[in-house]
Amino acid sequence: MSIVIDGKALAAKVKAQVGGEVAEMSAKPGLAVIIVGDNPASRVYVDGKKRDCAQCGIYSEEYALPAQTTRRELLGLIGELNGREDIDGILVQLPLPRPEDEREVLLAIDPDKDVDGFHPVNVGRLVTGEPGFRPCTPAGVMRMLDEYGIHPEGRHCVILGRSNIVGKPQALMMLERNATVTVCHSRTPDLARYCRAADILVSAVGRRGLVTADMVKEGAVVIDVAMNRNEAGKLCGDVDYDAVAKKASHITPVPGGVGPMTRAMLMVNTLQAARLHGKN
Ligand code: NAP
Repeated sequence: MSIVIDGKALAAKVKAQVGGEVAEMSAKPGLAVIIVGDNPASRVYVDGKKRDCAQCGIYSEEYALPAQTTRRELLGLIGELNGREDIDGILVQLPLPRPEDEREVLLAIDPDKDVDGFHPVNVGRLVTGEPGFRPCTPAGVMRMLDEYGIHPEGRHCVILGRSNIVGKPQALMMLERNATVTVCHSRTPDLARYCRAADILVSAVGRRGLVTADMVKEGAVVIDVAMNRNEAGKLCGDVDYDAVAKKASHITPVPGGVGPMTRAMLMVNTLQAARLHGKN
């Protein structure tokens, strides 16, 4: 049986570390969260982020805007927040009701307040190995590996999914840590062949039951990023957990794995932003 990577416990530890550092600071970090429209999932995420801020002693402000908010109004708000000294991080909860606005909105955020790490400047910093904000989900995965003494160096890491928020930055972070990286996606023929060659397998697709035990090498580390729902409406990942747990050396559960770490890393990034802005 594998070691279960306890993302919930590790996230609590990371947040406690952030809270400890924040408690020592004379000027507190500040995070502004913008939510547009009434997407119920977005509301749950935003509420969670506000709770995390309160727990860490980080000042937070929420801007809940109606779905009909214009791009111009949104850009105006971001411009204002970019100029405020008490706000270190700006997060726009995605998706926006008008997804076509997302690119321009993300570009408007000051890269040094871009705690999600989605701005092209921060993407470029990741690609070139410069310090910058790293996207929270793949950063949380790296933190989990570190905590459990799993070293990517020299190992074959196979990533399923190539989105800008998970798959691609995950590949770059693994590369940064000297793993040999393979990225698979919807056009990859014979996915199982690549998966079986993985020492570290990260699945970020969003298809329940995609990764079965026969696709996993004995002793591999299996990280399940996905958040799907089963027939009963219960949260589950891409990985056939019970069967794969019998073969993997380490595995993340869903829920209680990558999800809580994503939230914790937002707190880490907000603290990093405050330090960058000279707060101590
Ligand atoms: P996304 O933008 O929809 O990307 C999914 C990726 O999976 C795409 O690259 C797609 O390939 C690939 N794909 C689709 N079908 C495939 C198949 N049959 N075989 C191999 N690859 C396939 O999703 P995302 O935003 O990256 O999120 C992925 C999953 O992670 C979702 O379940 C999401 O809810 C979850 N998630 C969790 C967290 C967390 O904190 N735990 C954070 C973010 C996302 P193409 O590029 O070819 O279309």
